[in-house]
Amino acid sequence: MIRYLEEFRNKNAARSLTATIRELAPERPRFFMEICGGHTLTAVKFGLHGLLPETLTLKSGPGCPVCVTSQEYIDTALLISREPGVIMTSFGDMMRVPGSSTSLLKEKAAGRDIRICLSPRDAVRIAAEHPDRQVVFLGIGFETTAPTVAMAVKEANARGLSNFTVFSALKTMPEAMRALLSGGKLTLDGFICPGHVTAVTGTRIYEPITREFGTPCVVSGFEPTDMLAALVLLLQQLREGRADVEIQYTRVVRPEGNPFARGVLEEVFQPADAAWRGLGTIPGSGLAFTDVFRSFDAASRFQVAPPPAREHPGCRCGEIMRGTATPEACPLFKKSCTPENPIGACMVSAEGACGIYYRYAG
Ligand code: SF4
Repeated sequence: MIRYLEEFRNKNAARSLTATIRELAPERPRFFMEICGGHTLTAVKFGLHGLLPETLTLKSGPGCPVCVTSQEYIDTALLISREPGVIMTSFGDMMRVPGSSTSLLKEKAAGRDIRICLSPRDAVRIAAEHPDRQVVFLGIGFETTAPTVAMAVKEANARGLSNFTVFSALKTMPEAMRALLSGGKLTLDGFICPGHVTAVTGTRIYEPITREFGTPCVVSGFEPTDMLAALVLLLQQLREGRADVEIQYTRVVRPEGNPFARGVLEEVFQPADAAWRGLGTIPGSGLAFTDVFRSFDAASRFQVAPPPAREHPGCRCGEIMRGTATPEACPLFKKSCTPENPIGACMVSAEGACGIYYRYAG
């Protein structure tokens, strides 16, 4: 009974929010971008694009951490996994991401010791159980995941585990937002900002975006009605000529974020340049080890150099990450590229746009 009441309330809320979005419909074409794979999933799965007025388009951006991970990083990780005595550990969604010539899953099938972890602490446990082996964790993610990796490093340090390292491709979101706005190839009138990232960082990270670019930012939750409410807030800002940071996801996000998680992050990592698929190298958008924790850096311990990376020439993941193409625009989509046989990273991850469109669109 409670479930039906909840559904009834949600339907009514969605109807009312959709009506408000239509009342606030912009007079000329406007473009908002969601920069979290969770939001892409909600928007496509629940058909939010079909509810919008003709003058409003919602684009997907670089919000899937697996998808934005560069081909060079994947190739380097694959080489490290072949080093003698290495146990490679990773979140599961990295396993099927194609490198230039192979993937972690294929390497595992070929006999490499590659293990899936649900948490970075699982990798620390494996390191403690195998003191004679080198355990490498693939650190992929944004500000939401990065504190858990930092905590694992601190734990390994406290336990004196010198056989544990992290290969970091951790990234931070605001610099990517700036890169999108500075690129000059994309018109964006507002961002739906990631709720879970902001729960850690707080809202201050978006203030330069609103101040320098005049682009409104609204932090949204992940229910369909959350996203519709975030769209209402963005449209209201446009109508009133404002560019502010607002929180729709007030049940989780505080303006100050999570000071403890931020503190751990700043203790273990510091900003560094990072390579993004589709966006190139963005200054200060990655997380590298601070001097105190540099001994946990797998990139320093395993100095492998893969040959120049090769991406499939037909794959348009880069354009999808930049919001200049949708998965349906890729000629390989649903033909040679499927979740069973992914050609690009965007088809692999649960938060990848191509995989989401494959499962839920049309
Ligand atoms: Fe790349 Fe496949 Fe997406 Fe095309 S459908 S952009 S090949 S991941």
